Amino acid sequence: MPIRLAKLPMPSWTIRLAACLLLLAAPASGALADNNLSPASAPPPIAIEHVTVLPMTANGAVLRDATVVIDGGRITALQGPVPRGAKRIDGRGKWLIPGLADMHVHLPSDGLMRPPRFPTEAPNLFFDTQDIMTPYIANGVTQVMNLDAVAASVGQRNAIARGSVLGPHIALAAVINGGTGRGRIANTPADGRQAVRDSRGEGYDFIKVYSDLDTETFLAIVDEAGKVGMKVVGHIPEAFEGKLDSAFVPGFALIAHAEELSKHSENFTDADAARFARLAKQNGTWVTPTLVVMRWIASETRSLDEMKASPDLRYVHPLLQSKWIAANRYNKNSSPKLIAYFDRMVEFHQRLVRALKAEGVPMVAGSDALTSGVVGGFSLHEELELLVGAGLTSEEALASATRLPAEWLGVAGDRGTVEVGRRADLLLLDADPLADIANTRRIAGVFLGGRYLTRTRLKAMMADLAKRNTAAKHLFDWNALRAK
Ligand SMILES: [Zn+2]
Repeated sequence: MPIRLAKLPMPSWTIRLAACLLLLAAPASGALADNNLSPASAPPPIAIEHVTVLPMTANGAVLRDATVVIDGGRITALQGPVPRGAKRIDGRGKWLIPGLADMHVHLPSDGLMRPPRFPTEAPNLFFDTQDIMTPYIANGVTQVMNLDAVAASVGQRNAIARGSVLGPHIALAAVINGGTGRGRIANTPADGRQAVRDSRGEGYDFIKVYSDLDTETFLAIVDEAGKVGMKVVGHIPEAFEGKLDSAFVPGFALIAHAEELSKHSENFTDADAARFARLAKQNGTWVTPTLVVMRWIASETRSLDEMKASPDLRYVHPLLQSKWIAANRYNKNSSPKLIAYFDRMVEFHQRLVRALKAEGVPMVAGSDALTSGVVGGFSLHEELELLVGAGLTSEEALASATRLPAEWLGVAGDRGTVEVGRRADLLLLDADPLADIANTRRIAGVFLGGRYLTRTRLKAMMADLAKRNTAAKHLFDWNALRAK
């Protein structure tokens, strides 16, 4: 994002040079690029008339019969007047809410389908960035956090920021793990600190800690991240077994799954749920429950029938569809014991959400999209419904996908609420999501940085994606391709 340049400690000539490069790279339309630096003309202002607004500010009341004006990609008024030349949208009988955020996603990135034959071999499997992003925007998801960001993820984020792809804002978290696997591995505190500084230097926004870190390295990573101004999100490493308290240190800012806590409970008692909630509260650690991923894991462990029958599956790249079905590790390792275990997890996570709510621990909605069965975009709506099912009010669930993610990400001044000055990342709904959270699915249109995408346009993009995915299915047999 061009705006971030100003925050970096660079000599002024570097800023000027970078700004020039950005101007050269600006798209012809300029519609999605940040208008501060784009030389292209902005789209005409938009007025949404007679609409009911859910601002989703901390104390903001519902605004009825509002006239919301969007100009230059931002909200410029909530009660008109309608500027001359504005495109008018009839908002009667409709609800306007902030665009939704999914705070735990994985996004496919280009790769090789077999070991490289020579060191500079380029990927032979390419994903179309627009195809990855279309289900998100069609579902009104205008912000995601990629919890497994790699170099290619930076390219995806930039393609959207530049305006050449329609997609959500992407926050990038770089994974650091212990053990001997691939990626950024750190098994000593010194290596952990270096991995944090490398991630900072490479342009990632956050650090994701993973399960195989030893306790000392984990603590060093969180400490170093604090020093370089990065928040830490992620798993609670296995090494904290029996000493969970010591994982809660300042800077460990977000737990990526309810499971990170529930796996430290032997009997899934309410007392354990309350204890976990107190630990999070005392440390200021937020939680992404990701109820939906555990629900899907439990379903797939039992049988693949529900996933195979899901109408959302056709929006997933055919290679991943094949992987989810032909190489589903939950289903392959199924046993009555495992099924019972996951069922208990699903049930306990609902009680854990209630305990977190009772303790006042902020929760942000996340789905762990790209895990088998969890289809990005759609899965955020499933998560919201599960959060309400677990005991959040519709308003609390909505806050977990709008204002609260923006606060955690540090972008609350820019987006996440419907207020004058905020970026026009908005959803126009056919029905009131406070009356029924499932109404977040009834999307009449999506505003992406002030660009209006109608239901008709979004439906056409989705139909085209499904058609191409289905036509290419025979080319992507996961097991056959991996065997080559
Ligand atoms: Zn994940």
